[in-house]
Amino acid sequence: MAHVQGDLVVGVDLGGTKIAVAVADTEGRIQARQSAPTPAAAGPEAVVAAIVALVQRTVAGLALAGTRLAALGVGVPGPVETGRGLVWTAPNLRGWIEVPVRDLLERPLGVPVFVENDAKAAALAEHRSGAGRGCQHMVYLTVGTGVGGALVLDGRLYRGASESAGEIGHMILQRDGPLCGAQHRGCLESLASGPALARAARARLEAGRPSLLRDLVAGDLERLTAHHLHQAAQQGDPLALAVLEDGAAYLGQAIASLADILNPELVVIGGGVAQVGEMLLAPVRREAYRLAFARAAEVLRIVPGELDAAAGVVGALLVGLEGLRGAPATVQWPPG
Ligand SMILES: [Zn+2]
Repeated sequence: MAHVQGDLVVGVDLGGTKIAVAVADTEGRIQARQSAPTPAAAGPEAVVAAIVALVQRTVAGLALAGTRLAALGVGVPGPVETGRGLVWTAPNLRGWIEVPVRDLLERPLGVPVFVENDAKAAALAEHRSGAGRGCQHMVYLTVGTGVGGALVLDGRLYRGASESAGEIGHMILQRDGPLCGAQHRGCLESLASGPALARAARARLEAGRPSLLRDLVAGDLERLTAHHLHQAAQQGDPLALAVLEDGAAYLGQAIASLADILNPELVVIGGGVAQVGEMLLAPVRREAYRLAFARAAEVLRIVPGELDAAAGVVGALLVGLEGLRGAPATVQWPPG
């Protein structure tokens, strides 16, 4: 890409329920942030129109004399062909099959648009502006409703031959295990995501085991989520602690394998379930260090993400900034 042509870059984090937008100057200083609900059920055109409206509103709200939009980065929840800015599928968005997001956004906005998978964008955020600053080889894991992942190797996002690398959540750990969202059996996501942990807790409760969890959901086990597990575990509930330990052990197992294969210096864990904190991370580390080869384990650190829920939108900003500049960039975080 040639020189910077304008003053503002926009990052768009497209999620299944929410569109988050951030605007930064070309030095990566965030000037504004906004979000709006995703009209996910209304199809790709409605979602694209909602993005355009939110971007225009956010940029107009800045009302800075002499500024203009120079580029846009978008993180989308599905596999992407970055060269064409095409989204292959997005399971949480109805009707998203081979959607040319780049072209659909460039037309109304009139600036270059760069599209990236959301987990890869979030990994970029942690690497450039968060827990991974300065490291060369980093594995990123996001543990929430699903388990996502991405790899930064030799300081760069690793995409693989068809840009599908980094699906750590679908590493298979149990041959006849439970089903995941992508209909695999026994992958990490099926064993350690928020819904997987809730399901494991429910099975133990249905077997009659005592636990605070029953009170936390007023007896309605269908309502049980990882959030309740965290609450009960904080109060020392043995069942909740055991379920979290199990989930952590699977995460640790997967990380040990990744450490042996890739020899990263850092594993960054983000996402909602990761907000459980040390109660989850301590057993993850114990298992990873126990199982990995000593040479891989001795250089490995396993840390929580620093950007939390903002990783997606900061990553999208970086996708826009780096697309425009053709070189690594940083976003100043936390914003000043
Ligand atoms: Zn899977």
